[in-house]
Amino acid sequence: MNTNYQQILDEIYAETRPMLGQGRVADYIPALAKVNPRQYGIAIHTLSGEAFQVGDARVPFSIQSISKVFVLAMVFGRIGETLWTRVGREPSGNAFNSLVQLETENGIPRNPFINAGALVCTDHLVSQTSDPLLNILSFVRMLSNNPKVGFNEEVAESERQTGFRNAALINLMKSFGNIENDVDEVLKVYFHQCALMLDCHDLARAFLFLANRGINPWNGEQILTTSQAKRVNALMQVCGLYDDSGEFAFTVGLPGKSGVGGGIVAVIPNLLSICVWSPALNSHGTSLVGMKALELFTTKTGISIF
Ligand code: GLN
Repeated sequence: MNTNYQQILDEIYAETRPMLGQGRVADYIPALAKVNPRQYGIAIHTLSGEAFQVGDARVPFSIQSISKVFVLAMVFGRIGETLWTRVGREPSGNAFNSLVQLETENGIPRNPFINAGALVCTDHLVSQTSDPLLNILSFVRMLSNNPKVGFNEEVAESERQTGFRNAALINLMKSFGNIENDVDEVLKVYFHQCALMLDCHDLARAFLFLANRGINPWNGEQILTTSQAKRVNALMQVCGLYDDSGEFAFTVGLPGKSGVGGGIVAVIPNLLSICVWSPALNSHGTSLVGMKALELFTTKTGISIF
């Protein structure tokens, strides 16, 4: 096992930079289509308190679906196993915004990371809290230890204007009785959580509790039970990259979560968390350079959960 993380990050960065220019930014969300696709950063936080970074690791970006892990943790931590009556735990094998399974499976989404499942989690949060947006902000600020984390209103508004598939998904679930609140209210929260802006350094830091049996290493607070933290990691392993999850397990081999802003966060239980960001995506909505960087990371370090 090679734990010379800074040297490894520098090597990965040098080896993968020639790939910049491949892939496409998420142009179905107009505000994301404007992002410079050549940005690229990586950051690591270890449980022993060390941090490493390379490239644009301090440039905030739209975390998009990575936010689904935060909202899942908030809801799962509050209501526990009853969550699974309204959302499943199986990979979907379909695109993150696909509608096809939802009709045949009676409005119960396959898992909490496809958009439909994330909308159910957000609906839970709207039911449980009087100010869900403030709750999300406080949670992510606490985990990242950065009180400046905020929402990008332009991105949230851009998603609202073009979120036709998300509107279709939530209305279909509402027709099956699987959404409790007003659909526009839930969508508003969902679009805002996706529009959270964090950099690689802060995002890796915010995920460290999942490498630490559910305990936030920065203040000792138990965010999830040990069992719940393992389960969130298991879900990231099998569903975190949608219909790219098999490929990610095959080439990277870690629990991870992607977002169409080009970020990917991965966790090595009991050791570290790592965040990679580069906005140009492959056809599954995964950062192209990000996936390669993580593959090189597990190869060069020799670290494996298998
Ligand atoms: N906000 C995006 C959407 O709902 C999130 C998708 C993603 O990051 N995979 O389409």
